[in-house]
This record gives sequence, C-alpha cells and structure tokens, in this order.
Amino acid sequence: MPEEFVEPRVFLVGAGPGDPSLLTLRAVELLAEADFVLYDQLIPPRVLEWINPAAERLCVRDLPGARPDKYPHIHATLIAAGKAGKKVVRLKGGDPLIFGRAGEEAEALREAGVPYEIVPGITAAIAAGSYLEIPLTHRRFSSAVALVTGHELPNKPGNRIDWQALAAFPGTLAVYMGIARLPIIISELIKYGKDPDTPCGIVERASTGAMRSVFAPLRELESARRNAGLESPGLILIGNVVDQRPETAWVAKRPLFGVHVLVTRPRHQAGEFLRKLELLGAVPYLMPTLEIREPADFALVDAVIDQLARNAWDWLVFSSSNGVQGLLKRILASGRDLRVLGGVKLAAVGPKTAATLREYHLIADVVPDQAIAEGLVESLLPRVTGKRVLLARANRGRDLLRTELGKVATVEQVAVYEQIDTVEPDPEVMEALRRGEIQFVALTSSNVARSLLDKFDEILRGRVERGEIQLITISPETTRAVRELGFSIAAEATEYSTDGILAAMVALKSQQPRQ
Ligand code: SAH
Repeated sequence: MPEEFVEPRVFLVGAGPGDPSLLTLRAVELLAEADFVLYDQLIPPRVLEWINPAAERLCVRDLPGARPDKYPHIHATLIAAGKAGKKVVRLKGGDPLIFGRAGEEAEALREAGVPYEIVPGITAAIAAGSYLEIPLTHRRFSSAVALVTGHELPNKPGNRIDWQALAAFPGTLAVYMGIARLPIIISELIKYGKDPDTPCGIVERASTGAMRSVFAPLRELESARRNAGLESPGLILIGNVVDQRPETAWVAKRPLFGVHVLVTRPRHQAGEFLRKLELLGAVPYLMPTLEIREPADFALVDAVIDQLARNAWDWLVFSSSNGVQGLLKRILASGRDLRVLGGVKLAAVGPKTAATLREYHLIADVVPDQAIAEGLVESLLPRVTGKRVLLARANRGRDLLRTELGKVATVEQVAVYEQIDTVEPDPEVMEALRRGEIQFVALTSSNVARSLLDKFDEILRGRVERGEIQLITISPETTRAVRELGFSIAAEATEYSTDGILAAMVALKSQQPRQ
C-alpha cells in the first residue's frame, strides 16, 4: 500500500550561493507563502527579501546553544512550527543536502510525523565554476568532480575523509569549509602523491559582487591565500581545469564589480535599483532613511477627489510616482474609478512618474525634459495662466511649484502620501561603513540626503572629506541639499533618475580603478 499523501508543512529549501536571483522558482514561491522561515546565518539580506513580509522569521544564530548544540533546537523548532499548522520554510545556503545537514532535519521530521518537501539549490561548487569560468568537468582534463568537506581534521580519530584516495581522484576536487585547515589539506594531498603544481583556486562569496578569488599551484596555495587576505568561508577548487579559466571571468568585467554601494531609498521603491546595481556587479546595501505611508487622514484627499469629479481642476500635477500611486489608489479605495479624472490635464515631473501614470492607463500631457521641479515650472508656466492647478504631493518638500505657478494660476496642494523618517541604523550597514567597505552612497532625493547625512553625520563626514566614501546625487536639488549640510559630492547624475545615478557611478569607477 502506498503511503497516503499528506500536504507538507515543512520545506527544506536551498537558497543558492548568495545572488538573490539564483533561487529556484519553487523556493521563491514557498518563501512568498511561508508563515515561518528559519534561515541560516550566512543567507544574505537580499535573498531574505523574497520572504512573505507577514511571515515570522528566525535566524538559526538566535536559537539557543553553540554550534553543534543548535541541531536539537533547530529540529524542535521545525517540528513545533509544522505541528502548529504553519507553513514552514527552512532556508539553507546552497543546496540543503550538500553539507547542509538537511538529511538529519528530514530524519527528525520523519520521526515526528511531520510531512516535508525538499527543494534543491545551486551548491557553492557549481556557482564557483560559473562565476570563475572554470569548467568543473572537461572533456580533456576532468571526467569527475568530488565534493569534499575540509572540515574534518585528517589525523582525527574517526575521520572519514580518505585523503589518499582523494589525492588519486581522477578529476576536480571542490573542498567546502576547508580554509581553516588548508595547510593540512595541502600537505596530505602532496604526501599521497598529488602533483604540487596542480592548479588551484579559492573563491569566497561566489555569485555576488563581493566575490574574491586567488589562484596558485597546490603547494603555494596557502601563502597565496594569506597574501590575498581570503578568509573563511571559501571554496577551494583543485584540478587541471582551474587553468582553463580566462584571465578575467565574465562577472569581473561588470562595470561596478566589487563596488559596495549604499542605497537609502524607501524599501518599496528600492528593488529595481538594487537589482540593477547587482547586475552591474556592485554589492548593494539598503538602509532606508525614510518610508512612504498613506496619509493618517484621507479627508482632504477625498475632498479633492470629489472636486476632481466635479471638474473643479484644470491641471493635476504629480511630482513623484508615490504621488500618482497615493492618489490613484485612494480613488479606487473610495469607491470611484478613473473617470473622476475625465477632464483634467496631467503633468508628471519626469519619465518615472509618467511611467507610473501609464501603468494606470493614463498619459501625461506634460513631462518636462528636466525631471525636477524647475523643469515642471518651465513647462507649465506658459500653459496654466488663469487655470486651476492641483498639486498632488508628499506631506513635505519644496514649495517651488506652488509659489512659481501661483504667480499666474490658482494653485492648491494636497498631501496624497506621507514621508516618515525611519531611524533604524542597520547594524550590518553601520559595520560596513566603519570598516570602510562602502565606497558609493546613492542619494536619490533631497529628503533622503538630508535624512541620511543628518543622522549619520558622525560616521560619514570624515570619510566623505577624505574621499573614502563618495556621494552621488540624483539632481541639482539633491546636490544643493547635500552642500547645505556642508558635504561635498563626487558626482551628480546627468539624467535625473536612478539610471542617471548608475551611469554616474560607472563613470566614476572607470576614472578610478580599484587598487
Ligand atoms: N549547503 C551549502 C554548503 C554549506 S557548507 C552548499 O550547497 O553550497 C558552507 C561552505 O560552503 C562554506 O564554508 C564554503 O566552503 C562554501 N560556500 C557556500 N557558499 C559559498 C559561496 N558563495 N562562495 C564560496 N564558497 C561558498
């Protein structure tokens, strides 16, 4: 009799090697539906962003017990959450069954009668092959690959690794968790007859912009590693295929490869920018200094929607995508639809705002060439004389539109969304700033700039003055805000958009190749 199928409650899921786009579709699907996620310490924040925002999350680090003692707690946590009827994802780096101890977790779940599913992931060795451009197998040089743990001491009683057999292995060795024991691994392999000139490589953080690697013959690998400053965790590749790589792997040709960039946009607006940074090879950090919220009270917005429906306005002017979303979402939520905008002309500050309008099937009548308030004033002034102009905007910001357009038109403004300062210094970002890892800070609006520079003046000022951290602004208005606080900028975007910031960063980087 086949066992009866019971819907799994716990999912042992591989998170891949670090790049947030190297998860499987199944993993992304499960993370989005999870009620509870228990994840390994080394899973990067960008991967965790796939998790359902409403899910409870717990890092294995925060369970009681030091390393090996954690396992009973991990098992108990998974079993308890599964039995409580939660949809549980156990997220593990790489593949869950390759040195991931998911086998033991599955066993514990089986014993407890909790049904589970296992979702494979891209394991470190496979990622290292692609990102270093080393073919792990090769028709001429290697017909086999061994995945080896370097964690066990070769002379420890009960050690299960047969270094003699591995020295004779006719193929590529991929050694996980081996950095700390590298000298012993090298001497064991050479002792058992492995050619000391065998080409080798070490890679850390393969698949991310922070990837670093070093190559040397087997006998020199440890000193090469030390000189390059590579530390655990890293993967060691040993075999003739290592010499088949090109001088510069494809990923290292990305224009911002290895550059650490701090992004301070509101979280819900940062995704595309972070992704583009990653695809340019950068290592993005997100620390929003402000968030966007709905207005605490919709009375004024609703009143304006009524007026729009009565044709009380000739022009409706949006100075941000958030403004478009704020007003249009409210129109629907208040039980009306786009017809309330029937007669009104629409202006958008720039292409992004116009694109957001287009998502609602609305085409802006005016989009200035320069995506800033001054551009809007210039385009609108000749058209709005004697007209009634409504500005849909944030609860704070510049008054330029109102004062300038108000010279010729009847102008009112309504706050359709609120900007809230969020003062959560992310410990990881603060540490990266202190260690001098972050080179570029992208300032995507004057409010973002003011909020960041004001709050983190102490940690930023000296570093910016010495040029260790470079500020890149989105527009002259943002530059002005930065200078008012006594900071200098390294570059200003030529096109006033996040793409403009990316272009400015690429230009900066090409002027100053990293040592
Ligand atoms: N289950 C994981 C391995 C866990 S053991 C997998 O399938 O990849 C942890 C070891 O994996 C680290 O010590 C290191 O040797 C290796 N590793 C994991 N991710 C890596 C990466 N992005 N780059 C290099 N090595 C990595």
